[in-house]
Amino acid sequence: MRLRFAPSPTGHLHVGNARTALFNWLMARQSGGTLLLRIEDTDAERSTPESERAIQEDLRWMGLSWDEGVEVGGTHGPYRQSERLEIYRAHAAQLLESRHAYRCFCAASTLEADRKAALAAGRPPKYAGRCRDIAPEAAARRVEAGEPAVIRLRVPVGREVTFVDLVRGPVTFHTEVIGDPVLVRSDGSPAYNFAVVVDDGLMGITAVVRGEDHISNTPRQILLYEAFGWTPPRFAHLSLVMGPDHTPLSKRHGVTSVAEFKAKGYLPEALVNYLALIGWSPGGDDELLPLEALAARFDIAAVSHSAGVFDEDKLAWVNRHYLKAAAPARLVDLSLPFLEAAGYVPEPPGAEARAWLEMAVPQAAASVDRLAQVPERLRLVFDFDAARTCADAVLAQELAEPAARAVTMALAEALADAPRLSDREQFRAIAARVKERSGQKGRALFHPIRVALTGAAEGPELDLLVPAIDRAAELPEGSGLARVMGCRERATELARLLGQSASTGHPGPRAQS
Ligand code: GLU
Repeated sequence: MRLRFAPSPTGHLHVGNARTALFNWLMARQSGGTLLLRIEDTDAERSTPESERAIQEDLRWMGLSWDEGVEVGGTHGPYRQSERLEIYRAHAAQLLESRHAYRCFCAASTLEADRKAALAAGRPPKYAGRCRDIAPEAAARRVEAGEPAVIRLRVPVGREVTFVDLVRGPVTFHTEVIGDPVLVRSDGSPAYNFAVVVDDGLMGITAVVRGEDHISNTPRQILLYEAFGWTPPRFAHLSLVMGPDHTPLSKRHGVTSVAEFKAKGYLPEALVNYLALIGWSPGGDDELLPLEALAARFDIAAVSHSAGVFDEDKLAWVNRHYLKAAAPARLVDLSLPFLEAAGYVPEPPGAEARAWLEMAVPQAAASVDRLAQVPERLRLVFDFDAARTCADAVLAQELAEPAARAVTMALAEALADAPRLSDREQFRAIAARVKERSGQKGRALFHPIRVALTGAAEGPELDLLVPAIDRAAELPEGSGLARVMGCRERATELARLLGQSASTGHPGPRAQS
């Protein structure tokens, strides 16, 4: 089986197209076939090399490699349509010669008038066929004389074109509704339907898997295969990916490109796994499977023909699964851009900072939907300000309670002569001393400790957070990590401010306002 993914490099890779690429990849893998990547860049105005590069980068990021095509090469190239113009010219000449195609000289205004007249008469607005019967010699003379012309396919009259779609079953179009399509524009550039058939034909493609938006092109393409005397490939048209309102997923719905999902901190294995689940199920009781396992179970006939809705909550659920499974060093690498942007890793981390990150980032990643949320989970490590805690009306009031005050003071005292709390045992030992000195236990003990050490009423488990704070505080200047205030300094500073406010008789510097 030979399959291809044929993106137009006119923008980012949309998740709908990424799903098309994925289903092609799965089918190629499943069948032991070949997948090729062809770039459809005949629209010179809209195609850019940046977009082509970005599409390739996104495909590689998702783990979708191709066996033949741009970058990797192969025996059926070139794989960029802009490099195949000579091939299209020769094939157009062949169709003119065999009279399957003809030159059309109709002006845009004539075509428009015909279209309006057809609509007014209740007929399908298709090309009226004015130039079908111009003798080839006469047409050639007009072209010679410089008259602009397009080349059209001569669609047979009164025929049905049927194909068995691998997803949708038999599909039939009557040629009645198919106007003679333009194959070559007046500037000599090939139209999509023409280039795609020449390429798929010459590249030996045996199955075309693409978006449903192309289904009405398929009968035109089949007629072109007939004109060339080639056997058409099999076709599979995938339903489009919809937004929550059941209209095609677009910018209006927010994030739509692979690059944007990457930038939000979704893992590639999560995105591809999720995309595979839109309109298809691997069966069995586990749908969270790596690419190779999905490929082993893939069956294009089991893909649903009804539209699939893109559900970011489900994507987040899949991502959480893969975040928990990911290796610490990889999580750190992938989180670094987000941590840098937050100011938490201002310089490239050295070995000690990396060791800290490999401890803290997986802990943080275990409780987020995506990596962009990791800095927020580490905020309590990097961002502490005792004065701000005291200025917070709710926190200050909590700390002003006698029992809480006793805990805070005992904590500051206990920490004053304690080593750094570099693991949970050391933290628990301190908590036990504070319990003893303050006489508080349970929430009455741990809540004030949390507020005193983190400046927040809630957050990650103290058992994890406290050692993370103190181990970061140990790191020397220039480690790569932003400076972190240790637990001892936090508790001391807070106790000092509380002591001051006790002597001035109000709970905190700004609590009165
Ligand atoms: N370049 C076309 C697109 O991106 C390819 C369609 C096809 O697969 O035939 O829509």
